[in-house]
Amino acid sequence: MTGSKYCAGTTRTEDAQVLFEVGDRVRFMTADRGTLAGTVEKLNPKRARVRCGNGVGVVPYTGLEHLCSSTAENRKERAKRLKEVAARARELMDQHGLNEWTLRFSAARKKLGECRARQKLILLSRAHAVNGAPGAVTDTILHEIAHALAGSAAGHGPAWKATARRLGAIPKSCAPESDEARRTREAARTMFRTGDAVAFIARGKLRTGTIVRMNPKRARVKCGDVMWSVPYARISGASR
Ligand SMILES: [Zn+2]
Repeated sequence: MTGSKYCAGTTRTEDAQVLFEVGDRVRFMTADRGTLAGTVEKLNPKRARVRCGNGVGVVPYTGLEHLCSSTAENRKERAKRLKEVAARARELMDQHGLNEWTLRFSAARKKLGECRARQKLILLSRAHAVNGAPGAVTDTILHEIAHALAGSAAGHGPAWKATARRLGAIPKSCAPESDEARRTREAARTMFRTGDAVAFIARGKLRTGTIVRMNPKRARVKCGDVMWSVPYARISGASR
């Protein structure tokens, strides 16, 4: 163990918060020792807002219980995974001299990670940490560590890229893309080849053309004299 700051993501309250999700059916004890059941409506840092019929309860996470045991199990698994990711991040941050920095999980779904230099804080999307492939999550952590080391002025420029490479991170800007979106895109891409005649709708009109280049996210399609850049998911094979 190092003597560094422990991860804010593993404090007790936040540990309990990760056991719940908006939409979860829960029960809790009221002040007069009765029990109320309801649905989690919002996850505040320390308390959940729970809708019970026409009323609303604001309940500390430690006072909430799941109504469904399989949901409870699932959330426990998730909490375990988050702890592992937090420990891994802590280890990498310390290894690269960010002992003074804190890691916290965020509710962001598209932004996988974020580096806030002034607060010495690295944010990691909770959804990404739970659902992302371990290699992808580690890459996000290293990506943000590279921002911390290169300084915010470096952006995703050469200094940041060099740092990212040295740390073993893919030197590419943070992809605001979910795993599912990536899979859909990659699957769509495999259906085409350079030279294919294709059709797509752009600016409200059906257009046909030929793929002249396959970029990772979009195809370059030549339609007469005009070149279009089209996401793979929007292309279909042209009828001949
Ligand atoms: Zn970035």
